[in-house]
Amino acid sequence: MRVSRLMLVTLRDDPAEAEIPSHKLLLRAGYIRRVGSGIYAYLPLLWRVLQKISAVVREELNATGALETLLPQLQPAELWQRSGRWAGYTDGEGIMFHLEDRQGRELGLGPTHEEVITALAGDLLRSYRQLPVNLYQIQTKFRDEIRPRFGLMRGREFIMKDAYSFHADEACLKVTYGAMDQAYRRIFSRCGLRAVAVEADSGAIGGSASQEFMVTADAGEDLILASADGSYAANQERAVSLAPEAVALPGGVRQGGAGEPLATPGATSIEQLSAAHGIDPTQVVKVLLLLARFEDGCQQPLLVSLRGDQQLNEVKLANAVSGRCGAEHGTLLELGPLTPEAAAREGLTDLPFGTLGPQLADDVLAAARSWRPRFLRLADATATALEAFVCGANTRDQHLTGASWGALCPAPDSLDLRAAQPGDRCQHDPAQVLEASRGIEVGHIFQLGRKYSAALEATFTTEAGQEEPLWMGCYGIGVSRLAQAAVEQHHDANGICWPTAIAPYEVIVVVANAAEPAQLALAEQLYGELQAAGVDVLFDDRSERAGVKFKDADLLGIPWRVVVGRGAADGQVELVQRAGGARRDLAVADLQPLLLEQLAVERRGLLAA
Ligand code: ATP
Ligand code: MG
Repeated sequence: MRVSRLMLVTLRDDPAEAEIPSHKLLLRAGYIRRVGSGIYAYLPLLWRVLQKISAVVREELNATGALETLLPQLQPAELWQRSGRWAGYTDGEGIMFHLEDRQGRELGLGPTHEEVITALAGDLLRSYRQLPVNLYQIQTKFRDEIRPRFGLMRGREFIMKDAYSFHADEACLKVTYGAMDQAYRRIFSRCGLRAVAVEADSGAIGGSASQEFMVTADAGEDLILASADGSYAANQERAVSLAPEAVALPGGVRQGGAGEPLATPGATSIEQLSAAHGIDPTQVVKVLLLLARFEDGCQQPLLVSLRGDQQLNEVKLANAVSGRCGAEHGTLLELGPLTPEAAAREGLTDLPFGTLGPQLADDVLAAARSWRPRFLRLADATATALEAFVCGANTRDQHLTGASWGALCPAPDSLDLRAAQPGDRCQHDPAQVLEASRGIEVGHIFQLGRKYSAALEATFTTEAGQEEPLWMGCYGIGVSRLAQAAVEQHHDANGICWPTAIAPYEVIVVVANAAEPAQLALAEQLYGELQAAGVDVLFDDRSERAGVKFKDADLLGIPWRVVVGRGAADGQVELVQRAGGARRDLAVADLQPLLLEQLAVERRGLLAA
C-alpha cells in the first residue's frame, strides 16, 4: 500500500479527549476516530491490526478443536427473562442497550451471548455422544458502560471473541477450561503481550472458577495483587489475604461485654478516634450502612461491621447479599452507601451516623416508608474475631470500649468482606506479602457449570439414559481492547512500536526525496520486490520532506523502516528497527534476505522471555 493512497491524517498534538498514551497515539497516528461517547471508527490501519489479532485467535482456537460461528446481535428479551438476567442487564446499572420493535416486542443488543447459545445448544445437542462442543465467534458487542473511557479500552461498541463450551460432565468442562487457558497464553504471547493470569470474580456472568488475563500496564483499570513468589495472583475484587494482627485492647472486656461508655466529642471517624483517644484502629468495630435494591422492588438496609483498619470489598459484599437474598428478591440491581439524605427521604432522621455501633436495633427502621424495616447484618471475619473492642454507642459523641460480641449484641454472619491490600501477608504462605500492580483485562475464562443450561432447560441424554442440564464454560477476549493494550505496552516518546505479529504493516519503505528519480526508482523496485516476497509493506511515496515522513513512520510504529536516500545511486539503503532505533547501512542485495530472516522469527510472535 502507498501512503499517498492511505487517507493518512496524523496529528502533531495530543488530542484533548485522550488521557492515556495508547489512546493518544491511536488517535494521532490515524488508527481510530471518535464518533460518539465510547463509539469509534476503526480506520483501515487499525482494521489490519484487528484482522491480524483475529487470525492469531482463530489459529489457536481452531487448534483446540473449537468451531467458529456467528450469532445474532439482536436478542429477544424472552431469552434473557428465562435466564433471569433481563432485569439486571436493563434496570439500575444494567449495561444492555434495549429497544422495542414495531410489533412492540422487546429486544436487547448483545452484550454477551450465553442466553442465545444455550438456547441453541438445548435445541441441537441431544445426546452425550455429541459432546463436548466448543463454539466461538468474533463479533461486535454492545454495552452501555457507565464510564466509557480510554478509547478502545472501554467502549460501548467493541469487538470481542467469545466462546462457549458444552459438556456431559464437570471433569470434561475442566479439561476444555485448561485447554482454553493454554490457548489464551499462546494468543497473548504471539500478539507480543506480557499478560498474567489472575483469579477473578465471576460477576454477573455467574459460575464457579474464573480467571482473567491481565496485560500489565500503569494505565490499567484493574488492581492486581500478587505474591512475589508468583504462586498467587488475583484481581483485588477477588483477592484474599491475612489481615495484620489486631492489637489487644488494654483492659479487655468491660462491664461483662456490654462495654463502658467513652465520651468522644467530635470524633466521627476512625482517625479522629485514634488521634484523640489513643485507640488503635484494629481495636475498633466500625459499622457501615448500605442499601440494596432488588429486582422485586425490595429495598434492604444493610449493617456491615468491619475492623477499623480494614476497607470494604464491595464485590465480595454484593456476592454475599445476592447469595442471601437472590432467591427471594431476584437480581441485586443496586448496592450503595445509605446516606443521611436517603434516610431523611424515608422519614428516618435520627440514624446515628458518625457513632454507629453493631448493636443498632432494627427499631430505628420502624418508620421507614419503603425500606424493609430490618437490617441484614453482616460482618467481616476480622471484626467478629475481636474479643474486646471499641464501637459507636449509637448516640452522638459517645462510643463504647471493652464491648464484646454476644454480650453487646449477637455476632452477625461472619464472612470475608475485606479488601485485601498490598503489603498483606498471603494465605498460602504468610512469609510472602501481596504486591500491587495495574492491569488491563484482555481475557476472561469461566467455568459456568449448569446455571444457564438449567434456567433455559438445555438438557442432553446421559450415557445412562437420563436427561441432565449441559455443563458449560465461557471464554472471552477483548479483541479491540487487546489492540490498544498492545500499544500501551509497546510505545516510546515518538510513537507506537507494534509487535510484528500484529503490526498493520511489517515494513515501510520511505523515499527520502521523491523528486530524485534514482531514489524513487529504487524505492519502487524494493516495494515491489518485498510485496512479491509476501511481506506486508507500506511505501511512503509522498512528496513530503524526509523529516516529516520519518516522524510519521515512527508514529505509525511499523517495525522496520527502509530508507532510500542519497545512497541509492550507489545501491545503498538504510534499515531502521522501530523498537530501539537500531540502524544500519546495507547493500540493496542484502536487504531482502535479512528482512525475510528477521520477519520469519518475529511473525511467530513469541516473546523471548
Ligand atoms: P470489565 O471488567 O473490564 O468491564 P468484563 O469483565 O465485564 O470487563 P467480560 O464480560 O469478561 O468483561 O468480557 C470479555 C472481555 O471483553 C474482557 O476480558 C475485556 O477484554 C473485553 N471487554 C469487556 N468490556 C469491554 C468494553 N467496554 N470495551 C472493550 N472491551 C471490553
Ligand atoms: Mg471479565
